[in-house]
Amino acid sequence: MSQHASPLAFSFDWRRLRAWRPPGLRFDPIDEAHFQHAGGPARVMHFASSGVLALFVYNLFLLADRVMIPDVFQMALQVRLLMFTPFALLLLLLGWRFRPFLLLLPVRLLEGAVAMTGILAALSLGWLLSQSTSDFAGMYTAGLVPIIIYGNLVQRFRFRYALAFSLSVVGVALVCVWLRFGQVHAYEVFDIPLALLVLLIAAYTLIMNYRFELEERRRFQWSVRAQTLHKQLAASQAQLDALSRLDPLTGVPNRRHFDQYVQCRWDEALHTGETLGLLLIDVDHFKAFNDRYGHPAGDQCLKHVAQVLQQQVPETAGCVARWGGEEFIVVLPDTDAARAMRAAQGLCDAVCRLGLRHEASSTAHTVTISVGVAVTRPSVAPVTVDGLVAAADAALYRAKEGGRNRAMAALSPVAD
Ligand code: GH3
Ligand code: MG
Ligand code: MG
Repeated sequence: MSQHASPLAFSFDWRRLRAWRPPGLRFDPIDEAHFQHAGGPARVMHFASSGVLALFVYNLFLLADRVMIPDVFQMALQVRLLMFTPFALLLLLLGWRFRPFLLLLPVRLLEGAVAMTGILAALSLGWLLSQSTSDFAGMYTAGLVPIIIYGNLVQRFRFRYALAFSLSVVGVALVCVWLRFGQVHAYEVFDIPLALLVLLIAAYTLIMNYRFELEERRRFQWSVRAQTLHKQLAASQAQLDALSRLDPLTGVPNRRHFDQYVQCRWDEALHTGETLGLLLIDVDHFKAFNDRYGHPAGDQCLKHVAQVLQQQVPETAGCVARWGGEEFIVVLPDTDAARAMRAAQGLCDAVCRLGLRHEASSTAHTVTISVGVAVTRPSVAPVTVDGLVAAADAALYRAKEGGRNRAMAALSPVAD
């Protein structure tokens, strides 16, 4: 409060009232926006459909007007059919016509507008009651009960709006009793019990309304949590899947990945009629390397060789995988025998250029590889992936026999 403000000045913080939510019905602003947004379309549909039904029921009560307040029945017809109904229909039609825009409106406008129609319906009843001198007019207060049930349980306004709506309708009931106070009617003894009934129904339905919203918010939180967990699970599954396809020592794809990769490329080649090349690579005299420099040095050597092979065969050209031990395998889709041999020779040269000292080798001073090359055209050759690997293996054996550090083409199966 400012220094100069009068001690009697009354200041009311509307912003705090607007932000107020009962315990359990509070989310942080981001979750709240998410919650309102997620439930928005279904809520608009629900408001519209139960609004139409409620309007029908509201007018059906003309039958009650006819017997309970016959002296103001003409007025009831006007209030219900010519005033409230066109107004409510206009709101419904506008809401339906512009329903995508309704979702863009602040929630308080939508909830407030629908709660206001309920309050107007209650006021219309109060007005008719106040105008009638019928003996039964006092019992007309009971007509406020379906209106409260409509707002709190059928439309299920958000609790804050349900509370304001209920207080307004109870207020209408109390004003009705007050207006009839002192007047002599046959059934005036029912006035206070009926007002109490309205109050009680308002309290009970408000409790249920609170529980409904609490449940709805909890369900929302669980579904958000489930979605987050699902995403985390999918991400870690993808991570695990990627890891399960890599060789932990060299970092190149492992045999598991090779099996899937070669099968895919094989199936493609069956359809396209293209050729498929396979290179089986073995590090020369690797046992002697280990014996000479130790196993850890052997591991390092394998890493360097794998790195060079991968540099030589980019992902767009094919796939390098560790076949096992000191052996690697390369798949070259859409590659004929000549290109496959050139690629194999390129790999031998690249490993030589690495210049990894290998004093225990009887065929070179540095680490070298031997390569067996097999190419086939799956669409015409009666051969399988295993058959192609066996052919590359046989070619590798001949490369070893031929003196190592070289590439040899397979004699079978069918090449080009
Ligand atoms: P060749 O030229 O005929 O291929 O002779 P080689 O010694 O390379 O062949 P051999 O099959 O006799 O030996 C392969 C060696 O590779 C034996 C094994 O200890 C070694 N080796 C296999 N896997 C690994 C590994 O992961 N790390 C290390 N350091 N050595 C490995
Ligand atoms: Mg070997
Ligand atoms: Mg070897």
